[in-house]
Amino acid sequence: MADVPHISNWVDGAFSSPASARLVVVNPADESPIATVDATSREQVDEIVSRSRQHFSSPSPSSSWAQADASERFSVLSQAATLLRARIPEFVDLEVRQTGRPVREMRAQLARIPEWLEYFAGLARVHEGAVTPFKGPVVNTLVRLPLGVVAQVTPWNHPLLISTKKIGAALAAGNVVIVKPSELAPLSILKMGPLFQEAGLPDGTLQIICGYGRDTGKFLCENPSLAKIDLTGGLATYQAIAPAAGRNMIPITAELGGKAPVCIFPSMEVEQAVKAALFASFIASGQTCVTGSRLLVHTDIYDEFVALLTQRTKALRVGDPTDPRTQIGAVINKAAVERCAAFVSRALAQENGSKANLLCGGKPTTVNQRGFFFEPTLIETHSKSDLACNEVFGPVIAILRCKSEDEIVRIANATEYALGASVWTRDFAQAHRVVGKIEAGIVWVNGHHLNDPSSPWGGFKASGVGKENGREAYESYTKVKSVVYNYGVLPTWFDDEEGNARYG
Ligand code: NAD
Repeated sequence: MADVPHISNWVDGAFSSPASARLVVVNPADESPIATVDATSREQVDEIVSRSRQHFSSPSPSSSWAQADASERFSVLSQAATLLRARIPEFVDLEVRQTGRPVREMRAQLARIPEWLEYFAGLARVHEGAVTPFKGPVVNTLVRLPLGVVAQVTPWNHPLLISTKKIGAALAAGNVVIVKPSELAPLSILKMGPLFQEAGLPDGTLQIICGYGRDTGKFLCENPSLAKIDLTGGLATYQAIAPAAGRNMIPITAELGGKAPVCIFPSMEVEQAVKAALFASFIASGQTCVTGSRLLVHTDIYDEFVALLTQRTKALRVGDPTDPRTQIGAVINKAAVERCAAFVSRALAQENGSKANLLCGGKPTTVNQRGFFFEPTLIETHSKSDLACNEVFGPVIAILRCKSEDEIVRIANATEYALGASVWTRDFAQAHRVVGKIEAGIVWVNGHHLNDPSSPWGGFKASGVGKENGREAYESYTKVKSVVYNYGVLPTWFDDEEGNARYG
């Protein structure tokens, strides 16, 4: 790996000396190594957490972010947004190389990421405490304080977006943040360290450490000095982390998997419904937590819809992610290709004796004989099949014929996941009715995957706990201190002559 650059952890305002153990970050589109990063040991993790605690507790206003005025937090986060906006092309290039996602997608996604920093900058500046209507001659103030040192464990599919969402909320609230990005795509996040330093963030307030989840991620989450864990990842990872958070009595925000239904009703024009399904299902090669992986289509338009969707899916351009004409890029690694192939073969094995029908795709592929690609795949199946119930996290999509509105709603709610769902109808009353019945943290009507820093994002059931974005995310990075100022009642409880002594 001599010809591949090594990017070390970003700790205390500098890239550290390289760790002895390293891991290789690979471009999934051509299988070439891009860089090596540290595989951070338990001793190093513990040392970094301990130093981060000292930064959080520092009494010096110049070095302590927790003590910084709201106006200072506003100005640093705003400046970080400005710097990031000016450097989007460099970040796009890295995101494309480390994820294999098409440049067209990454340009569109990254152009909006500075908005998250601006939103949380604004929230830091305007968020107010409260005075409660406390009974009697008493003033009760509620003040929000930062939690301390918080760990953020992030995935590879939207590396920069998801980390920036979390970093923005946590820094706005005055915390010290340790980010552990995915071992598969950590490079864009490492670039955020120097950028925040340039924006004026005190050194040691944002630490970025790399390594495998099962090692570095685990060591970090087990550290007893953390004040919160914020994870985006799979359910198994949440289940591995949750016991440590329980032992250490700290909160977890968990943004986990999904099996988003795309509910298509007959009042929607077929051509429009097909465009909706293409976007919902195949953006990011189906590797988003809200991938429209179950198309629940009303029987009245089913045949026409399926014919047109199949035709359009076959025409999607799978290709080199750096080519602006490419519509479908790579999946993240060989394991993802194998997982997609296994879902296809199980679906076609006609489990439960029911028929599954491969409409298009179904096979691994390559571009210029290299890389980890999978053909955009559509399979007609039934609601209890493995493909209709479990997260593929790839471009393998289940289509289900549904005979009524009730059946669409019943199937939409029938998996253990409940993150995103979309409802496509021109019937206003139906939209309201169906939205009211769908169990999901986010429901879009005539849209899919729409997001905004102000709009809470998070799932129900096995899709997670807590929210990203909005006031909810900011407040989840704070603790409320209640101060009760008494200006008129003295304690009289044990004075026998007092008849109406106040207890609480
Ligand atoms: P993952 O759970 O494998 O990894 C996520 C992060 O957790 C990585 O940084 C990884 O190193 C770390 N990790 C893994 N095991 C760990 C352990 N035992 N202890 C501590 N850290 C550990 O997930 P992934 O493959 O990176 O991402 C895909 C999953 O993320 C999918 O299920 C997807 O739906 C979900 N996701 C959810 C959202 C959302 O907003 N709800 C967004 C994106 C992705």
